[in-house]
Amino acid sequence: MPTSRTDRRLTLHARRHAGEPIWLFDLDNTLHAASFAIFPAINRLMTDYVERIANTDRASADALRADYTRRYGATLVGLVRHHAVDPRHFLQEVHTLGDLGPLVRAERSLAAIVRTLPGRKIILTNGPQAYARGVLRTLGIERLFEQVIAIEQMQGGHTWRAKPDLNMLRQVLRRARINPAQAILVEDTRGHLKSYKRLGLRTVWMVGHLPEARRDGTRQAVKGTGRPHYVDYRIHSLKSLHRINPRRNPCAPAVQTTSPP
Ligand SMILES: [Mg+2]
Repeated sequence: MPTSRTDRRLTLHARRHAGEPIWLFDLDNTLHAASFAIFPAINRLMTDYVERIANTDRASADALRADYTRRYGATLVGLVRHHAVDPRHFLQEVHTLGDLGPLVRAERSLAAIVRTLPGRKIILTNGPQAYARGVLRTLGIERLFEQVIAIEQMQGGHTWRAKPDLNMLRQVLRRARINPAQAILVEDTRGHLKSYKRLGLRTVWMVGHLPEARRDGTRQAVKGTGRPHYVDYRIHSLKSLHRINPRRNPCAPAVQTTSPP
């Protein structure tokens, strides 16, 4: 079977880094506090869009968005399936945010935290490529990631898909030459971690940027938190990633937690 230049490059890259841990990072509310200003802005733009497309009022548009996100992982997938929306037009419209500088907020020393983690680092986000790169650039960490797997790269044929679609994840891992046993997924959406766990990845639930955790600036409990069986580590700060042994035998029982008592 013929292989493309990208395929060959990825194979060589994976060989060069064989045996090293692979960190898969979600973007929003994981690497930065999207709920601070970016999510409110995107939500507003998305609801405007859905209102126009579905020719409905604001409350119904909000309900429709929530329903599509719950069913498909992203509003976009529902709009493409049920309203024949042009996905690229939608993505561009709802991510036109102007200067990201004042909107982006993240942990102090984020770049140092990410840079000093050993192994390959990849972004896996339901956002579009241009937006993800814009945020990473604003955070000053774009060059620390070998690739950004955004929603455009999650398509299967002509079907738009999003996290946590299991088949999409399998395909994405295969394409990026990622051995699940070596991979550690860092993500704020707990439901997504359940799917990743089924693929054999180790899972880190990052709760530090969730709105509930930030309400009064303390580390108060996030609703329904605990640590479900599919969450290997629960963290409030990305700094805690350095306390995880990235080369732990994947067959060993995952009982560790880095969350405070
Ligand atoms: Mg997220």
